[in-house]
Amino acid sequence: MRDYNHDVIIIGAGPAGIAVATGLNRAGISDILVLEREADIGGIPRHTPHPSFGLLVFKRPISGPAYIKKLLKRCPNVRFQTKTTVTALFEGGMLEIATPKGLQTLRARHIVLATGARETPRHPRLVSGLRPQGVMTTGALQQFLFAEYLKPCTRAVVVGTELVSFSALWALRHAGIKPLAMVESGPRIKACRPATIFARLLGVPIHYNSRVVDILGSDTLSAVVIEGADGQRQSLACDGLIFSGAFTGDNTLARASHLAMNAETGIPLIDQNWHSADSAISVVGNATHPADMGDQCYIEGLAAGRAIAAKLNQPEAATKTVVIRQGAGIKMTTPNLLRVGPDGLIFGLNLHVTQAYKGKITVKCGDEVLYQKAHSCLPTRRISLKNIRLNAGNSTPLEVILG
Ligand SMILES: Cc1cc2nc3c(=O)[nH]c(=O)nc-3n(C[C@H](O)[C@H](O)[C@H](O)COP(=O)(O)OP(=O)(O)OC[C@H]3O[C@@H](n4cnc5c(N)ncnc54)[C@H](O)[C@@H]3O)c2cc1C
Repeated sequence: MRDYNHDVIIIGAGPAGIAVATGLNRAGISDILVLEREADIGGIPRHTPHPSFGLLVFKRPISGPAYIKKLLKRCPNVRFQTKTTVTALFEGGMLEIATPKGLQTLRARHIVLATGARETPRHPRLVSGLRPQGVMTTGALQQFLFAEYLKPCTRAVVVGTELVSFSALWALRHAGIKPLAMVESGPRIKACRPATIFARLLGVPIHYNSRVVDILGSDTLSAVVIEGADGQRQSLACDGLIFSGAFTGDNTLARASHLAMNAETGIPLIDQNWHSADSAISVVGNATHPADMGDQCYIEGLAAGRAIAAKLNQPEAATKTVVIRQGAGIKMTTPNLLRVGPDGLIFGLNLHVTQAYKGKITVKCGDEVLYQKAHSCLPTRRISLKNIRLNAGNSTPLEVILG
């Protein structure tokens, strides 16, 4: 008798989790359970109605809910269980889950964490002031508007200028809420420059080199105070304040478990096949690279599904692990670990920078340069380095550096 409940349990039913299930299914693995804490499947796209998904996968822009419907059609044989939160992860493929019926333990041959990314809310940003209603992230705003059909405010300020910040502008405008201003701590927007045209068309000023220094109002937000680089302060009357972007991977489960983490990024160590340091657990999607586009997470999830199926179908070959370290100015690399077999390895690597950067990117193993090419990088843009060769004998950590 088998001593596990399912071949594979996937935690999270966003684009990455759905893709892993699809990839596994196509590779002949059918005993898959996807666990989702929300009542609906779909992750972030389920409450993102503007057409910002599908360009890579379906070659045309489609809305989040339509995108999820189309992705689900590609994996008809997979079981999804919603309203189920995974509360703990243990060695040996064990999980603890909380369902409306109570706590339960499950065991799988392989577990996949596809728990996504979240924006940094007000508290970790250490913005002082009172705690009135009306302060939220873009994700919360979208849930209010498009999942609960509630209008949480009438006049709002958006903090941040990443792509998601412009999604916030779109959502506000769509719901008949007046966007008053955007606040950016640096001298330029974090998204690609043409996004400023959208703000201009909506008549929304962007305050550069500025930050929110006070939040006023007792029960409901009444105003925010913005400070510019010259120290001048101005108060904007509003009842909505949207903290957008500054994404972090939702790795709460991984952090509380036995999994090894990259100490600098707080992201679990994962190799070129998305296997973690415990090779019976994989981590995929925006939990490992907060926050790339839905399509990128989906395409990666398909490949991760194939890699897990290959591992379940064949005994693992002996490998050596090599850690990848990121230099100054690099936010994270994916993978951040390599498993190298007897024939060496040719691999690709994605990275994000912390500030706009134009110049060489180098991958080194000791004194040996494995890759060097010029790139033009923005913090919100995924940079892909391709065809890097590592010889079998190498076990020195790799370094990825700007320069
Ligand atoms: C506010 C916001 C707006 C965005 N807008 C866009 C956009 O317009 N276009 C775009 O391409 N990308 C957008 N993104 C990026 C988005 O992260 C990706 O599009 C994509 O959704 C990532 O897929 P994922 O499967 O990795 O994560 P997610 O879509 O976040 O899915 C993760 C799922 O895991 C579930 N989960 C987490 N922890 C547990 C647990 N312990 N137990 C059970 N379930 C759990 C969550 O409920 C969620 O459903 C946005 C991100 C945010 C935060």
